[in-house]
Amino acid sequence: MALLVQKFGGTSVGSISKIQHVADKVISAREQGHDVVVVVSAMSGETNRLIDLAKEISTAPPPRELDVLVSTGEQVTIALLSMALIEKGHSACSYTGTQISLLTDDVHGKARIRSINSERILTDVKKGCVVVVAGFQGVTDEGHITTLGRGGSDTSAVAVAAAINADECQIYTDVKGVYTTDPRIEPKARLLKKITFEEMLEMASLGSKVLQIRAVEFAGKHNVPLRVLSTFEEGEGTLINYDEEGGMEQALISGIAFNRDEAQITITGVPDKPGIAFQILGPIAKANIEVDMIVQNVAGDETTDFTFTVHRNDYDRSLEILKKHAVELQAEDVSGDDTIVKVSMVGVGMRSHAGIASKMFEVLSKESINIRMISTSEIKISVIIDEKYLELAVRALHSAFDLEEPSPQNEENSLSET
Ligand code: ADP
Ligand code: ASP
Ligand code: MG
Repeated sequence: MALLVQKFGGTSVGSISKIQHVADKVISAREQGHDVVVVVSAMSGETNRLIDLAKEISTAPPPRELDVLVSTGEQVTIALLSMALIEKGHSACSYTGTQISLLTDDVHGKARIRSINSERILTDVKKGCVVVVAGFQGVTDEGHITTLGRGGSDTSAVAVAAAINADECQIYTDVKGVYTTDPRIEPKARLLKKITFEEMLEMASLGSKVLQIRAVEFAGKHNVPLRVLSTFEEGEGTLINYDEEGGMEQALISGIAFNRDEAQITITGVPDKPGIAFQILGPIAKANIEVDMIVQNVAGDETTDFTFTVHRNDYDRSLEILKKHAVELQAEDVSGDDTIVKVSMVGVGMRSHAGIASKMFEVLSKESINIRMISTSEIKISVIIDEKYLELAVRALHSAFDLEEPSPQNEENSLSET
């Protein structure tokens, strides 16, 4: 008998019949003798619908009010799921973030969790009740409702699991687990049986939205065993944990991530002198815009070209800021492109293997895909390419690095296939 946190995402609670199905799954876990705390998202599409409503009133809705609005989606599903459980003869009780004192900082729209009142949850659990918690939302010390950022119910689930010391945090979704790449782009993607926190963190931060990055961070920090599995199909899913078989040879590549939310800004012909990077990026940082990749080329005539990437939502603002500063920067030109994507290969095995980057570039060149920017770290290589080549690049790399078929090399490591 275990204490489980089961999180169900938007598509898993997208209709009344799906909510009934989720109730049956929870009941089946109860019947196996487990104690269950459930965390749910809003019904699929609901958060977007609420954001669109706000945008009909204001182009920049006040963040506090937006949080009050978007947090309602999860309040609907906790009540409906609890009703379904009660209707099926089980004891259940729904809680909003405020009711379990899920305290956060006051950064509306991307608040960070500080603490949770586990007593309240555990008292109900001890009485044999299924506790159903609203994901994505919290409350500040002053009682203002906050939300945790898109996909934030994953983080709520991990935080609840850490607070009540659950044996496992199970993230139920619309795919069977974590795959070598998004199965919607590459149907031949392989389901991973296990992946390390480190690799999952890299995959999530490079665009694999199967788990919110903060959820992985939190689970790693608090050592919460995390499992991603399907609401609709049976299976063991993917376990995300620390690599306990340390020392064993790692898989070379664990997966391919991609991010469509990218845009690039280029400023050419600026004087190549100390402080120029600061002069260019200073105003961008001041506007609270996060910069991702940066490339600087010295032209040889004492000028330099500077390119960086930002989130696509920040593209127009970034371009506008730099155009405003172009004269004082003595720039020849400021231009941009918001039809680019980032494709990344991730694997802890890269640490000890040379030549992965050159193979990646060779594969892309064979497909005549131009690489615009490159960035590497110990366990990942990212490239920026035109968005029209995304599917082609992902599939070509997936095949060239043998991610589809179980290879003998991959068989005995932390990423063994199912
Ligand atoms: P939920 O609503 O359950 O939170 P999400 O849409 O947030 O579901 O996340 C699940 C989706 O993540 C899948 O439908 C899949 O398209 C996408 N995804 C992206 N990369 C991966 C990957 N490497 N493995 C599995 N799913 C992935
Ligand atoms: N409902 C929120 C969203 O759509 C949170 C979540 O689904 O995890 O982002
Ligand atoms: Mg999600």
